[in-house]
Amino acid sequence: MTKISIIKKIQLGEERSLPLHHPDAELCFSFYCGSGKIKHEAVLSFASSNFLRSLTESGQLSNYDLAQNYVTKLQDLEDQNRNFPYRYQFYNSKECNNDYLIIFDINEYRDYYGIFVYAVLQIEKN
Ligand SMILES: [Zn+2]
Repeated sequence: MTKISIIKKIQLGEERSLPLHHPDAELCFSFYCGSGKIKHEAVLSFASSNFLRSLTESGQLSNYDLAQNYVTKLQDLEDQNRNFPYRYQFYNSKECNNDYLIIFDINEYRDYYGIFVYAVLQIEKN
């Protein structure tokens, strides 16, 4: 089984909440690595992502590591009764050859859809 180690949390700009035209649409999300020198563009969508919980339930990643990297509070991650909408997608950049874990959710409010990005983590898979 692949274990995921978190290297660091990537600093994100203000644009973490983005409109989605349709719940099945693809959205281009950009962030920077290498002290802001390299711009990455990841395509996020419902279809290409999965529940973050599936990674922690399979033991690839721990809730503790996520909380340590300020994805969200440990008590929220461990609350079984809470509807947990966080999704994830892996992204590999050929420019820097780094792997990233992008954590977001797709929300709906009165027929308007949006993506909110909680965190982008630089990771290593071993
Ligand atoms: Zn990079």
